[in-house]
This record gives sequence, structure tokens and C-alpha cells, in this order.
Amino acid sequence: MAAQLIDGNALAKKIRAEVAERVAALKARGLQPGLAVVLVGDNPASQVYVKHKVNDCESTGMRSVLEKYDASLSEAELLARVHALNTDPAIHGILVQLPLPAHIDANKVIEAISPKKDVDGFSVQSAGALMIGQPGFRPCTPYGCMKMLEAVGCSPRGKRAVVIGRSNIVGKPMAMLLLQAHATVTICHSATPDLAAHTREADIVVAAVGKRNVLTADMVKPGAVVIDVGMNRNEADKLCGDVDFDGVSKVAGWITPVPGGVGPMTRAMLLVNTVESAERAAGAAV
Ligand code: NAP
Repeated sequence: MAAQLIDGNALAKKIRAEVAERVAALKARGLQPGLAVVLVGDNPASQVYVKHKVNDCESTGMRSVLEKYDASLSEAELLARVHALNTDPAIHGILVQLPLPAHIDANKVIEAISPKKDVDGFSVQSAGALMIGQPGFRPCTPYGCMKMLEAVGCSPRGKRAVVIGRSNIVGKPMAMLLLQAHATVTICHSATPDLAAHTREADIVVAAVGKRNVLTADMVKPGAVVIDVGMNRNEADKLCGDVDFDGVSKVAGWITPVPGGVGPMTRAMLLVNTVESAERAAGAAV
């Protein structure tokens, strides 16, 4: 039986429409949510990503400010820009596009972003809040994956979930969110000896590795929900994920495509975090 598709484009569209309504409500109170996107250097992929983020923002009625700097910008200059944005009342979210040039310490820059405006959810404070179950911004990619599970009626409660990958921006926060949603979670990584032994037991598999065909049909429990975060290129230079989509979709119950799965949801959740930040600011202003 073929798996059902989790359509990230359709779900992201619905979320953008909901965000637009929240933006309109804030505007009616005299507050326009604002996102600042800071790009340093001319990495071609980063340029595409920031363009999408700015367009997404504007499509919902938010204000977006794109600050572009030459790769020679010093760390001190970038930190000064972040500090200025931290105190700018028209800005509710700050996103510094990664990767940064090698001479800039990305961790230092992320930590400089006010926790109130850390809409990427990458700071130590945001990660700590997630870890101990306190409110805070959740990293957009895992947050989007949770929304996809919700959208298909898959409650993680009591389920076995396997997350492949343990990065700070995807794997670890994904595992934390699943744990908070009462799944029994296993995190696998490059030193996991028998990946298939874990994934075969899983009701939910999230692949966040960055390598093609990390998850094949023989590694998946029939009916499992498979979420593919990976972004790779195949021999024909076509975008593909970590999952062998053709094979796994014959076994899984639900599966996300690449493209059109997690990617659009990541972008949508950035809007959700930004509007939420503006709502908190509006609440504080009352
Ligand atoms: P990352 O920092 O490179 O982490 C990759 C993880 O995969 C590491 O934890 C690594 O283990 C693990 N790994 C590597 N080879 C493995 C193997 N053979 N078996 C099991 N685990 C293995 O990457 P990331 O930033 O988390 O991103 C992962 C992928 O998601 C990339 O393709 C990225 O482009 C994509 N991504 C997509 C979106 C989106 O919106 N769609 C957003 C973010 C990232 P070790 O820790 O042991 O090295």
C-alpha cells in the first residue's frame, strides 16, 4: 500500500494564511510585526533562502528588513548591528543567516541576539528553555515537523520515535519536541552501529542527516510516519532528501516529499515565531 503524502506546501500555505490574520489583528492595534534578516557575504544558497524569507514575510503583511553586508564585515561590526536590532522596537525577530564567513564566530553572534527576538531558536537560552519545557522559540525545522505530525493526526504520545541526526538546529531539538509530546525517543548518529535495528522499531522516523538513501524501505516499519528533513542533490542535480522516497513510500503510512515537505514548513514556522514575538511585544505594551 502506498504511503500518503504529507504536503508541506499545502500546510505551509494554511499556516501563512493564519499568520496573515494574526498580523492583520496586530496592525489594527497599530503594530506591524517586523523581521530583520541579516546576510553577510555572497553564499548563493543563502541569498536564495533570505529572498524567500523576505518574500514570505511580506506576503503575510509583516515588515521585513534585509541587511546585506560584504563578506569582509568584521565580527564587531556584525555584533553592533545585532545590538542595534535588539533595541529597535519595530523589529520583533532577528535572523542572522548561516553560515557566516570563517572570521566571524557564529555562536557569539547567535548569543548576541536578544532571546525575545531569537525567532530561529538557536541560542543557548532558547535551547535551554526547550530542554526544560519552558516557553521560548522553537527552532523552525523541528517545529515544522511537529506541525506536520499534528496535521496528519499522528500524536507522538506513546509512540516510538527515531531521530537520525543530532545537530543543534535539527536533530536534538526534534528529539526534545518529540519527547515533550510523550514519544519514546531514540537519537541515532554517525556512530550508531545498526541504524536499521532502531528505525525498524519506530512509529515515527525523522531523517536529518544530509546524505541520500540513509533510510531505505527495508529499514522502515509498515505504516510508520517518515519525515525527511535532508536536502541533497542526486546525480541529475535534482533536490532530494535522505530517504529513498520511491522505496519507503511503499512501506510507510505517511511520508514527506523533498522538495515540498519540510522545507516550506521551516519557512512557515519562522513567520509563526515572528508573529508570536510581535504579539508578546504588543502584550507587553498594553
Ligand atoms: P549536520 O549538522 O551535518 O548533522 C547531520 C547529522 O547526521 C549528524 O548528527 C551526524 O552524526 C548524522 N549522520 C551523518 N551520517 C550519518 C549516518 N550514516 N547515519 C546516521 N547519522 C548520520 O546537518 P543538519 O544541519 O542537522 O542538517 C541535516 C540535513 O537537513 C541537511 O541535509 C540539511 O541541508 C537539511 N536541512 C533541511 C532543512 C529544511 O528546512 N528542509 C533545515 C535544516 C537542515 P554525527 O553527529 O555523529 O556527526
